[in-house]
Amino acid sequence: MLTEAGAKRRAALFVVQGSDGLAEHDRGGIDVLAASEVEFEAALRRENHTVKRALADPRLFSGIGNAYSDEILHRAGLSPFVQTQKMTAEQAGRLHAATQQVMAEWIERLREQAGDDFPREVTAFRPEMAVHGRFGKPCPVCGAPVQRIRYANNETNYCPGCQTGGQILADRSLSRLLKDDWPRHLEEL
Ligand SMILES: [Zn+2]
Repeated sequence: MLTEAGAKRRAALFVVQGSDGLAEHDRGGIDVLAASEVEFEAALRRENHTVKRALADPRLFSGIGNAYSDEILHRAGLSPFVQTQKMTAEQAGRLHAATQQVMAEWIERLREQAGDDFPREVTAFRPEMAVHGRFGKPCPVCGAPVQRIRYANNETNYCPGCQTGGQILADRSLSRLLKDDWPRHLEEL
């Protein structure tokens, strides 16, 4: 029996036959574990978006999505708001390495936890994550409280200590409410 615990009903399960059936679900994103630095960088810069949006876009990168993009950006020490076409070659290289490390680590961890069984209680919120779903909790690297930026359907989590040089990025809904009381820097928190 499969049930979805979330209220948003965004999960889906498809049954397909053969590789042709599977290909119908291919959104075109590259396999990040197989991609060279050059291939990764080409996909990253194909359109100019924030790096957060580019990483989570299945048309550019296969299998990353919202939770792992937060974890990858934390590992790479990059702000989620950097524009992909303005990133330096060094930043893109760092992101490529962080993406491969984080995805390989999580594949191994999830396979270990599932064992030979069908995976149970599948969730994007896991205690081993550094920033995703950990708003207000201390970053495991620097101890700064993890921050969030909320959108209509999603949220991005990041560490101001590791990723934005201490800057608190505006969360539109909250900064409107707090106006001048909105902390701009980690030290004001
Ligand atoms: Zn940190």
